[in-house]
Amino acid sequence: MDKKCLIVCCAHVERGTQLNYNYDELLKRARAQFPDVTLKKERLELPPMYVSMVGMRTTISNFKEIADTLDRDPQHILKFLTREMATAATYHEGRAIFQGKFPRDTFERLLQRYTENFVTCPVCKRPDTKIHKEKRLSFIICNACGAKSSIKQL
Ligand SMILES: [Zn+2]
Repeated sequence: MDKKCLIVCCAHVERGTQLNYNYDELLKRARAQFPDVTLKKERLELPPMYVSMVGMRTTISNFKEIADTLDRDPQHILKFLTREMATAATYHEGRAIFQGKFPRDTFERLLQRYTENFVTCPVCKRPDTKIHKEKRLSFIICNACGAKSSIKQL
């Protein structure tokens, strides 16, 4: 399946019934379901990741661009990735540099999980959200449907 489908149409996929639709069909269905006003942020298209390995380090050179697309703090994403990957990383001038060799699909898989956990609204499945902290708890506030959902602390 098209990678974009996994993110855009996770609501359909999770219901487990419509896996066979292609991307265009899914998009059409999504457009039919939601009013035009919300269309702009319906799609969360991550830019292609520029991953390079040099020696025992792996660099994502457009990390800031990815963080901007997700509308999240690069450090927050980095914290999630390093914890999941059990490694250390630094963020410098828009790049993320990881200790160790990691293939691109590791990052893609983890970023998708990050998106599901920290970007997509659990209620309406749209990506137009903000993280809000109250004391020691964090919440996702959805700009589309107004839902406030608690999220895991990193
Ligand atoms: Zn929502």
